Amino acid sequence: MSEYPNTRLYINGTWREGSREGLPVVNPASEEVIGLVANAGPEDLDDALSAAASGFDVWRRTSAFDRAKILHQAAQNLCDRADMIARIMTMEQGKPLAESRMETAGAADIIDWFAEEGRRAYGRLIPSRSLNVRQLVVKEPVGPVAAFSPWNFPLNQAVRKVAAALAAGCSIVLKGPEETPASCAELVRAFADAGLPAGALNLVYGIPAEVSSHLIPHPVIRKVSFTGSTAVGKQLAGLAGTHMKRVTMELGGHAPAIVFDDADVDLAVRILAGAKFRNAGQVCVAPTRFLIEESIYSRFVDGLVKAAEAINVGNGLDAGVTMGPLANARRVEAMIDLTSDAVSRGGRIATGGERIGNRGNFFKPTVLTDVPLDARVQNEEPFGPIAIVSPFSSYEAVVREANRLPYGLAAYAYTTSGKTSLALSQDVESGMLSINHHGLALPELPFGGVKDSGYGSEGGTEAMENYLNTKLVTQAA
Ligand code: NAD
Repeated sequence: MSEYPNTRLYINGTWREGSREGLPVVNPASEEVIGLVANAGPEDLDDALSAAASGFDVWRRTSAFDRAKILHQAAQNLCDRADMIARIMTMEQGKPLAESRMETAGAADIIDWFAEEGRRAYGRLIPSRSLNVRQLVVKEPVGPVAAFSPWNFPLNQAVRKVAAALAAGCSIVLKGPEETPASCAELVRAFADAGLPAGALNLVYGIPAEVSSHLIPHPVIRKVSFTGSTAVGKQLAGLAGTHMKRVTMELGGHAPAIVFDDADVDLAVRILAGAKFRNAGQVCVAPTRFLIEESIYSRFVDGLVKAAEAINVGNGLDAGVTMGPLANARRVEAMIDLTSDAVSRGGRIATGGERIGNRGNFFKPTVLTDVPLDARVQNEEPFGPIAIVSPFSSYEAVVREANRLPYGLAAYAYTTSGKTSLALSQDVESGMLSINHHGLALPELPFGGVKDSGYGSEGGTEAMENYLNTKLVTQAA
């Protein structure tokens, strides 16, 4: 396991240990401790805040053109190091190597896109009521950002914040994921090696609640971005609100996947099964509540069960493995609890439903049917390899069910009817709706939720707006 590096903090252009004892990093496939991550104390956080303040002074005065050059170089660095980064990611997070490679390439794609978008952060000129007045609307970086990214996509969740903030001219203190720290640190290294000025990007790890309660209220921080659970997101949004900080919240979901009987059922099974079990289901936009029109219900369940049983679960480093372990022991416990609760209320396990072996966080790809709506899994985000399949009898009933929960992140639908697609696009309460394909999460597309799934976007031009202030300058000759 010597190829797995210990992870240090990156503050004011320097890699360093934290002032507290490091935290262990565990390989979820073997349960072995494979390294340590530096643990920041209050003095480290204060150093990161000072660095972000001075880094902001330099970075905001760097032209958008020059910023873009550095961002493109960071993307290139990631591509050049993709094999090494992917191995590290799989060792700490568990996902198959192919998924880790895709995530690394995807992170480079996101950086390249935001690099160019930063060059297009246009203002506007508003015609005035008087000939000697000129009215300008200019976009300015909002200031130093405190960003918190989770363990399910160690690169991808961090890069959306880092790339958009840097492209806009903001500096950042990023709290990376303590459970999967080393690949996230490689993202930061890619920027550092690209020539980013000291202090523009700082990386810390520590005790999450201590770090957020130190950073968010601090006067240096002007913007907060968090990806994680709804429960924590609400706490952090409350803290940010108390201190008048702008916020982006990318929180949980419980995505409905609706399949009508006029759909290409085989296509729906293939794409939805792939999306469901990718990253062992630990994806905020994973389809989780499969709502299938009655006449094709049995066919769909059979297809999904077959697809789940064809998945090769194992160590993500091994060839041929298509689903790795869950990223931590908490998720295995959650899968066991959600399944037994569903069964105790009359739910049926069509396949899976249990842990694999007794070493490593492996859980079988699982399909549950006949699960009543009061079962926990029908209401709580499973965040794991569990699909719940339920039949529906009418358009009205399925839309009611799709909108039943306080979540509103992603939704999916399969139908060949243009009329049904149009109606769904108006009726489904979600931040994203993907019809007849899995089309989410490209850098140029908005990415975010409504209701308890949060607010603000982590993709598209909307993501840049989150890191920009609008200033009016009105000037008389
Ligand atoms: P959790 O709620 O304890 O933590 C979720 C994330 O928030 C982690 O990255 C954690 O480090 C961070 N966090 C927790 N408390 C924090 C605080 N006070 N300040 C700052 N950051 C804090 O749960 P968990 O066991 O790590 O994950 C389980 C749940 O989290 C899942 O069920 C899922 O709903 C959610 N989650 C969502 C995403 C996402 O992509 N939206 C990613 C990871 C986890």
